[in-house]
Amino acid sequence: MRDEDDKLTFFYCGDMNAKVFKLLEKNLSEQEHDLVDFYNEFLIDIYLLLDKLKSKYIAIDWDNTISADQDYFLQLIKKLQKAGFTPFVCTLRAPDKENIREIRSVLEETNIAIYLTDGKPKRKYMRKLGVKVHLWIDDFYPGISDESCKIFARNSIE
Ligand SMILES: [Mg+2]
Repeated sequence: MRDEDDKLTFFYCGDMNAKVFKLLEKNLSEQEHDLVDFYNEFLIDIYLLLDKLKSKYIAIDWDNTISADQDYFLQLIKKLQKAGFTPFVCTLRAPDKENIREIRSVLEETNIAIYLTDGKPKRKYMRKLGVKVHLWIDDFYPGISDESCKIFARNSIE
């Protein structure tokens, strides 16, 4: 049994029929993390924000997301890969060797890509690289886009 203090509360309020959500919903309950569908910034640890429906790319934040439960995210990344998605790390951290080494050392066996935006809004940064994201997994959603953008409305964040 997971200790109450080790539990993370995830938020999702997108399309409940999305394949990625079905996978996450099952996985979160198996791993005893909580899932809510109402916006409460004091309760929520990590946001699951649906963006481009047709994409298979899943952007996962590092600080206070993967770092909050490394074992959980390691198994989740493998499950997503097996299900045909392409998860990658997208962090606001600076692109220096030490940051990459730290992240790579935890996720070595998954061989996933790591993008370091150096403080730039993640959504714009990835679009410039030609990557449209299906789902953002992040504890700090203003880091995804600094402007009021459709994905926040679509995921019921005011
Ligand atoms: Mg973070």
